[in-house]
Amino acid sequence: MGLNITEIRVKLTSDPRNKLKAYCSVTFENAFVVRDLKIIDGAKGPFVAMPSRKLADRCPKCSHKNNLRASYCNQCGGRLDPQRAERDTRHRPRLHADLAHPINSDCRIQLHKAVVLAYSEELEQSKQAGYKPKTFDDFDDDEFIDDDYIHELLRRKEVRERERGDAGGAAAEAGM
Ligand SMILES: [Zn+2]
Repeated sequence: MGLNITEIRVKLTSDPRNKLKAYCSVTFENAFVVRDLKIIDGAKGPFVAMPSRKLADRCPKCSHKNNLRASYCNQCGGRLDPQRAERDTRHRPRLHADLAHPINSDCRIQLHKAVVLAYSEELEQSKQAGYKPKTFDDFDDDEFIDDDYIHELLRRKEVRERERGDAGGAAAEAGM
């Protein structure tokens, strides 16, 4: 049995140079909403990023929380190692963590398909006269996705596809 997705709202971003193409909220069972999914323009078509936060760690001197890429503590100015982020199996830094996400590939694929479909429908609608963009109260239209994050997402996607390939799954075809 799959997810019971009852509503997907898509808010397109306005700047065509932005690799972040849209924000989405997804409602499950008419009862539970996950917000801040992002649709990102990847080389092989749009892909879906789950809501995430930037990872941080505490300064060894003053315990202030800093971005993992920071070279100096924002509070005490102490020197930090900008290469201290945990590395994945290919020694690439891990700088973000998903806040909500599917835990198996069937669910991931179903969600991906539904969100990408809703996005393409919204895109079509947006070309028609009198189109009214969805209004979300708390989304920042000016947000740009940084390239580090896109690369991190693409690497994770590759790793997942490789793992599925190793397990003999055909699911990798679904492209998420
Ligand atoms: Zn500090």
